[in-house]
Amino acid sequence: MKVFVIGGGPAGIMAAIYAAKGGAEVTLLERNDKIGKKLFITGKGRCNITNLSDHDNYLKNIVSNPKFALRALKTMSPQGLIQFFNDSGLPIKIERGNRVFPLSDKSSDVIKVLNKLLENSGVKVFYNQKVVDFTVENNKINQIITEKQVFYPDKAILAIGGKSYASTGSDGIGYALARKCGHSIIPLKPALVPLICDKCYDAFCQAASISELPPLQGLSLRNITASIIDENDKKLFEEFGELMFTHNGMSGPVILTLSSKINRMDCSKLKIKLDLKPALDYKMLDNRLLRDFGEKKE
Ligand SMILES: Cc1cc2nc3c(=O)[nH]c(=O)nc-3n(C[C@H](O)[C@H](O)[C@H](O)COP(=O)(O)OP(=O)(O)OC[C@H]3O[C@@H](n4cnc5c(N)ncnc54)[C@H](O)[C@@H]3O)c2cc1C
Repeated sequence: MKVFVIGGGPAGIMAAIYAAKGGAEVTLLERNDKIGKKLFITGKGRCNITNLSDHDNYLKNIVSNPKFALRALKTMSPQGLIQFFNDSGLPIKIERGNRVFPLSDKSSDVIKVLNKLLENSGVKVFYNQKVVDFTVENNKINQIITEKQVFYPDKAILAIGGKSYASTGSDGIGYALARKCGHSIIPLKPALVPLICDKCYDAFCQAASISELPPLQGLSLRNITASIIDENDKKLFEEFGELMFTHNGMSGPVILTLSSKINRMDCSKLKIKLDLKPALDYKMLDNRLLRDFGEKKE
């Protein structure tokens, strides 16, 4: 059976390797001149391969629609993925928070191993083949049309990524192609992104009762809570952890998580409330400040 995989990112590469292992004659079509361009920049160039949490904790940390991931996790668990890379000759290490990285700290080593596995499984990889369309008949893709030629698959796997970081290759055409196969696409929203905030600086000045503060950009805070408050002053979400100020708002882990929780809401009606000392009540905070001021004076 001739299987064509469209897209050489992690999803397409794994699909191609496993289809070939299953006995198919597999061709991978990639628009770039190499595979895994987005994978290369993951984890700040180190590639955070997976997280070795137990099943429940793993799902708890998927911000929206964790059920969607259940089937994939059942097919290959984090332990299974670590085993896969160990067996493929990629040494792995586990860091704080059970995050899993290649021992070398290089995403390029992950790509090298995946390239080798494609080769060893007999997958033919065609580079510089941008798929621009396909024809669908009776629920089956029967022609894949690239900028250069037409392919005739028995089966096709569409794995051409989402819309983020278009410079890596995935520019969003996948949604139109998936729609063509009968999939319904919900409106796209940014997720796990920094937030642009109006009046962030003014609010800080107001809270500190001063007219001018040093620029906040670059200031990073640890162990804080950030809450999303609605127009009726009701707290909708709260996250604890690290935050940093950017030139036009805020970023950092707590903000990235919150961005995914509010991305389908009317953000113009929301406020962010920061508690820089969430472990202290007002009295404790007062005592702490007086103590700190006292120490500074001496
Ligand atoms: C900055 C950043 C850091 C990240 N860090 C991590 C991390 O540490 N750990 C983690 O697990 N995830 C991380 N992610 C998320 C991760 O990169 C994605 O979830 C993953 O790359 C998705 O894989 P994919 O195969 O679905 O899509 P992509 O990786 O986007 O791959 C799609 C492939 O299809 C190709 N393609 C697109 N259109 C066509 C076309 N028309 N014809 C032919 N080929 C086409 C593209 O060139 C590309 O090679 C990060 C993402 C970003 C942006």
